[in-house]
Amino acid sequence: MVKHNSHLVIIEEILSQLGKGGHKEEGIPIGVSARHCHLSPETLELLFGKGYQLTKKSDLLQPGQFSANETVTIVGPKGSIQNVRILGPTRKLTQVEVSKTDSIRLGLTPPIRESGNIKGSAPITIVGPKGSIYLSEGLIIAQAHIHMSPIDAEHFGVRDGEFVQVEINNDVRPLRFKKVKIRLSQNAVLEMHVDTDEANASLVKTGEKGRLVKEDKRND
Ligand SMILES: [Zn+2]
Repeated sequence: MVKHNSHLVIIEEILSQLGKGGHKEEGIPIGVSARHCHLSPETLELLFGKGYQLTKKSDLLQPGQFSANETVTIVGPKGSIQNVRILGPTRKLTQVEVSKTDSIRLGLTPPIRESGNIKGSAPITIVGPKGSIYLSEGLIIAQAHIHMSPIDAEHFGVRDGEFVQVEINNDVRPLRFKKVKIRLSQNAVLEMHVDTDEANASLVKTGEKGRLVKEDKRND
């Protein structure tokens, strides 16, 4: 009986520590984005055929966004990368998001940009099963960002477009990301998006948490 009770005490203690830790650290769940592309309806038809519709593989955390079954090949002057996932639904602009490592493989130098801001970005060729397209701009490396709702923003005391820092506190390779942009939207689910290079640099995996640190204005 005594032994049984002491186990219970230990479990309660662990649960209470976990609860406290989660609250105190104000954890930001990390989502690692592998290379992917967003297609306009016109580009989708060009690559997959007239009237083609994307089919859903799985839902992403952000409401309405999904990973499609369809993939494309992206081509640069030095190489190509196959099986690049398409994220749906279709968007107004076609955009390809890669890591710095990917860009070296392609032989291209995309700028670090917020999603949707592709003016003057790097060129890219996209190849689908029914056709291909050369885009003079559209290849970017995504700027690390945090999706959050207005309620989250109030909780963390941050505003849309503000830059914050996020600390990854693991034992093996602790690292602090700077210049992480806050992206507010009404239905957003709290999540920090990093690319595979950033994730690998800090050995962080999807679902693990970082700690939000406000940018210190005195150090600017
Ligand atoms: Zn994102």
